[in-house]
Amino acid sequence: MQDYFEAFTNGFLGTTQWTWKSILFEVPWYTNYFWGLIVISLLVWGLEILFPWRKEQAIFRKDFWLDGFYMFFNFFIFAIVISGVYKVLELLLGNIGVTAKSLAIIDFSNWPTWSQLLVFFILLDFVQWFTHVLLHKFSVLWQFHQVHHSVKEMGFAAHLRYHWMENIFYKPLKTFGVMILGGFEPEQAYIVHFAAIAIGHLNHANIKLTYGPLKYIFNNPVMHLYHHSYVLPKGKFGVNFGISLSLWDYIFGTHYIPESGGKIKLGYPGDEALPKSFWGQLVYGFKKPKR
Ligand SMILES: [Zn+2]
Ligand SMILES: [Zn+2]
Repeated sequence: MQDYFEAFTNGFLGTTQWTWKSILFEVPWYTNYFWGLIVISLLVWGLEILFPWRKEQAIFRKDFWLDGFYMFFNFFIFAIVISGVYKVLELLLGNIGVTAKSLAIIDFSNWPTWSQLLVFFILLDFVQWFTHVLLHKFSVLWQFHQVHHSVKEMGFAAHLRYHWMENIFYKPLKTFGVMILGGFEPEQAYIVHFAAIAIGHLNHANIKLTYGPLKYIFNNPVMHLYHHSYVLPKGKFGVNFGISLSLWDYIFGTHYIPESGGKIKLGYPGDEALPKSFWGQLVYGFKKPKR
């Protein structure tokens, strides 16, 4: 019991300290997600201001500040709160013989760095794509994912407007992905994490980008806008589930981009029932599932 208590406090204090040090620039710059997130946000916001897709959309669009708060909440505040729990789980699983190294299907520890990063990026993106499909498929999960789909005007910060339960849903499959790779992230994994933040921001940005023929590989704002469409094609529970890569949607036939005007209605039928405030959304989703 003592061990678990220690693991909990160590996890909690460790993450708190790391975040504080990041704010004070006391960590290596390439692992500074606090300021990294701010810099990427300002860059993408700058692009939105310079090259707006929907020109009538305000620079401080609807829910701009709510989404800005969500960015820091999901990335840092919630991470601190949950870190103790994860440490306890790690210890529990370790005690019954499950460690991050117990799968290790691909041993890529001596591959060249670039190929390690590529495999890490592709595998992690696939498990997240799959998790995202599940969030739409099952109404119990969809209840929580509605928070992300309550965005009515799209802009970069909408990327990180999502219910804190999603952090928990994504975790098992992400951990599973890392276990397949022998339980470790490549040393330069921060490149992948920063790339994922930038692509995710761009996917939600008010900028018309499709990357030419690369649209079949990379997710983009036009494709992701249709993921947020109020009206879905008949018989589908969702389209364009891609996170960083659009590839999976093309492979599994879940892609749908009928046009690229950028002016479609966003949300989902019934979205007026979702609480408007952060606190309301924080406790939303635990009641009766309905679609
Ligand atoms: Zn979704
Ligand atoms: Zn989205």
